[in-house]
Amino acid sequence: MTARLLDGQAIAAEIRASALPGVQAFTARAGRPPGLGIVLVGDNPASEVYVRNKVKAGNDTGLWVDLQRLPATASLDDLLALVARLNASDRHDGILVQSPLPAAMGKGAAQRVFDAIDPDKDVDGFHPVNVGKLVQGRAHLKPCTPSGVIEILDRSGIAIAGRHAVVIGRSEIVGKPMAMLLLQRDATVTICHSKTPDLPGVAARADILIAAIGRPAFVGPSFVAPGATVIDVGTTPVSDRGVIERLYGAGSPRLAAFEKRGSLVVGDVHPKVADVAGALTPVPGGVGPLTIAMLLKNTLAAAEARAL
Ligand code: NAD
Repeated sequence: MTARLLDGQAIAAEIRASALPGVQAFTARAGRPPGLGIVLVGDNPASEVYVRNKVKAGNDTGLWVDLQRLPATASLDDLLALVARLNASDRHDGILVQSPLPAAMGKGAAQRVFDAIDPDKDVDGFHPVNVGKLVQGRAHLKPCTPSGVIEILDRSGIAIAGRHAVVIGRSEIVGKPMAMLLLQRDATVTICHSKTPDLPGVAARADILIAAIGRPAFVGPSFVAPGATVIDVGTTPVSDRGVIERLYGAGSPRLAAFEKRGSLVVGDVHPKVADVAGALTPVPGGVGPLTIAMLLKNTLAAAEARAL
């Protein structure tokens, strides 16, 4: 079997196009576009790329995107002061603080920052109030990556209700909210993590398998039931040529891309899974574009709710 590739770029483009009329209507009504404040602390190269893509997508969709940068030496108090300023601003409808924060800010810094963002502007959906609402099935602003996965499944005609979904990874930003959203759609959900015994055996019972671990090519064919849908959330930069050649083979386009750039983003799912799965999201071009599309949708939703 060769898995059907689920095209995240195309699905994200559909969602962004469907948000356009709402953005235009808001702008005409409010006399200003919906505003998104993005805070980037330090110069983590992966974060630079994510933020650049978010700024571009926001601008292309007609949002006002305000990128606020703080140096890697900024203190947690500096960051909290900036968040307070964005909370108080009339022009910022959404606020996103890019993770990870510099390690020097200390353990627990990210949670303190998420706790400080006005829940009505929390377009990442990480504030405890929004997490609580998500658990209760009444969230207004849902975390972007898991809600993007639901869009991929829905728009690809993959049924969720009554199916067995296995989520590998239990982080606050992907694994846990992913499991909640699948549960709300009447899937039977199993959450796996680093202490789960017989992970391949558990994963292979899934109709829908979500890999959100951050370990390149960890999920091999033995994890996947023939015909299952596999969603690869993982994105890990790999700079070892040997790893790329082993995964994709000499002469593959992926190896050629690696030669050009000196590194490659690799998902959690091994390329050989394409021989077993029924449907599969690629990396890149799968879940990533949806994360950005859902961020834009959340910003519009936050702007509309604040204007009421
Ligand atoms: P995280 O490090 O916070 O969590 C990883 C989870 O995986 C943990 O719950 C851990 O228990 C589990 N895990 C780790 N090793 C394991 C193992 N050997 N077996 C089973 N479980 C294991 O990561 P995260 O923030 O949830 O992100 C996960 C991946 O998704 C990363 O690669 C990240 O870059 C990527 N990501 C992508 C997008 C996107 O838009 N495509 C968005 C967010 C995160």
